[in-house]
Amino acid sequence: MTRSGQLLAELNPAQRQAVEILSGPLLVLAGAGTGKTRVVTYRMANLICHGVPPERILAVTFTRKAAGEMLSRLRGLVRLRGNKRPLVGTFHALCLEVLRRHAACLGYPRGFAIYDRGDQLGVIRSVLREVATGGVSFRPADLAAMFSTWKARGLWPHQAAAQAHDDRTHVAALLYRRYQQALRLAGAMDFDDLLLVTERLFEEHPQVLQEEAARFDHILVDEYQDTNPPQYRIIRRLARPHGNFCAVGDDDQSIYSWRGAEVEHILRFRRDWPQARIIRLEENYRSTQPILDMANRVIAFNLARHPKKLRSARGPGPKPRVVAYEDEEEEARATVAQILAAVRSRQARPGDHAVLFRTNDQLRPFEAELRRLGLAYTVVGSTSFFDRKEVRDLLAYLKLLQRPEDDVALLRVINTPGRGIGQQTVESLLARAVEQNRPVWQVLQDSSWRQGLSARVQQALDGFVQLVQQLRRQARGRRGVAGLLEHLLESVDYQREIQRLSKTQEEALQRQKSVQGLLETAAAFDRQEPRGSLRQFLDQVAVADRGFATAEGERFDPDQVVLITLHGAKGLEFPRVFLVGMEEGLLPHRHALAEGDRAIDEERRLCYVGITRAQDVLVLSYCRHRLRRGRRKPTVPSRFLYEAAGQAEMARQVAQLAGQAAAEQRLGR
Ligand code: ATP
Ligand code: MG
Repeated sequence: MTRSGQLLAELNPAQRQAVEILSGPLLVLAGAGTGKTRVVTYRMANLICHGVPPERILAVTFTRKAAGEMLSRLRGLVRLRGNKRPLVGTFHALCLEVLRRHAACLGYPRGFAIYDRGDQLGVIRSVLREVATGGVSFRPADLAAMFSTWKARGLWPHQAAAQAHDDRTHVAALLYRRYQQALRLAGAMDFDDLLLVTERLFEEHPQVLQEEAARFDHILVDEYQDTNPPQYRIIRRLARPHGNFCAVGDDDQSIYSWRGAEVEHILRFRRDWPQARIIRLEENYRSTQPILDMANRVIAFNLARHPKKLRSARGPGPKPRVVAYEDEEEEARATVAQILAAVRSRQARPGDHAVLFRTNDQLRPFEAELRRLGLAYTVVGSTSFFDRKEVRDLLAYLKLLQRPEDDVALLRVINTPGRGIGQQTVESLLARAVEQNRPVWQVLQDSSWRQGLSARVQQALDGFVQLVQQLRRQARGRRGVAGLLEHLLESVDYQREIQRLSKTQEEALQRQKSVQGLLETAAAFDRQEPRGSLRQFLDQVAVADRGFATAEGERFDPDQVVLITLHGAKGLEFPRVFLVGMEEGLLPHRHALAEGDRAIDEERRLCYVGITRAQDVLVLSYCRHRLRRGRRKPTVPSRFLYEAAGQAEMARQVAQLAGQAAAEQRLGR
């Protein structure tokens, strides 16, 4: 049999049809576990078998993890020669690459900075200080969320202002404008800008679009139901010249409308691509029938959907279990005990288990318990590591070495660790920079500004400038990022800073660990990209779990239990799944309770995503009590548990109860 023939033999007739179509627009619309991602992977393999150069294929996935998984499977299907491979990664990674090549057309510096959440909040605070909000008060985090929502819908400040219906939104739109100006001035973009600015780039510079579109002959998008408007328009533009566009998705798994994703995109596919072929897949190869029965029952409670039922190709299996625990400590203990028992009796490996939760707050007891029992685990998609003070300090140093004009980075480290440059000096420095509209780094070296300063301060400033210059020389020396980081740690004596910051020995140890973690991240980067630059490293860190697959493609470690949020678990599968914290207020989340039916429907889809991750064993659990803001409170079991059991009336009563409680909370009772 030919290689292509072998590939096709591993597919069912509908999947085969999708993989055999070698050109033109194609939509695969099907339920969870029916092999959509398999179709994308096999289709890439089949294209390569038919002579399409691998590097002319682009596949967009939702997370870096999913990209790694896909590439690694592809490598199992076809031999990829040399370093020729399809580009597999997220929209953010794709856009960042495009912008690094072309953002100069829009007046951004080539080495523009990418602001993370911390930087973003810093900018918002300073905007709030300088703009009179006419008595309307905002929390920086709320503003960040508003900006992000606008951006996810593809709205620039003037468009946001045009749509504002009340004073508060109006003022927020004004602040949004100032925020964008501040970013522009700093030569920086935030995470959402990566998409928004790329879209503008394509709009205003057709030759750039043409050049970028010409890189690929085939584009495939997984999880198409969760694309937001900028993503949708970017990909449509890139695919238009050749029209070889394959999208796969499931409207029942749309879980990002809070980030502006629109299921409509999938539903209007035919209009966008009139020649499109549409293929539906019927059979689920992932889960046993009892698990799918539960999923079908839950999702049927969503009224606005295209009815479809999942049918298992695998047949019968154990029924999903629902368990009640006293509180989150007991939930964690019992869950981890079940995992340990399965591992000890060799029924399953640690990596066969996934604990799925709604919010990161639920994580702590599980981590503690896994550590206590000595089970290795991985937390997928948690960015908390990059939020730690010491990691942020060190990254700021690296950013500064990459681009000394990065004011935010410079101001963060100019006196960290302390080197005798006081707040007053920094303020005068900043004032001068604003006045002359120059980067702080330039003012710093300007002798006229320094005249009034004491000899001691001048010396401290000199020391800092020399340190940065010396480290920059080292950075250019191409000794790898890890080497540079080690040198940096020594030169600034970061050890001393750790001791100063830590109140206890335990805390110091914890900080040391995160520094070690960063060193390991850098070393891994050096291994994967032997000729990689500091900027590439920083870009990778900036997009974090939204990056490209690395050359080899990576998979989960079979020896680590997986802890993951429901949002992060999309597209993945595990033999044994624990869906924990099934309570009103968690799933559905309390925000959704306050927002109403549409938000609840989305929570229900999230629950459906969770259930359909399980292959063989599914355990749902809830706690009768849970700590909230330090107080132990009674809980109400999630309505989805009743829906899962087919108890519509009970589900309705719980919903009513929870709705009332949410309303009362809003009224401050
Ligand atoms: P989701 O909606 O959750 O993203 P999906 O539709 O992308 O699911 P896949 O992850 O591609 O589904 O497939 C689910 C599982 O079923 C995978 O383990 C896949 O290898 C397996 N599978 C799919 N099709 C077949 C087939 N024809 N024969 C055997 N196994 C299959
Ligand atoms: Mg999939």
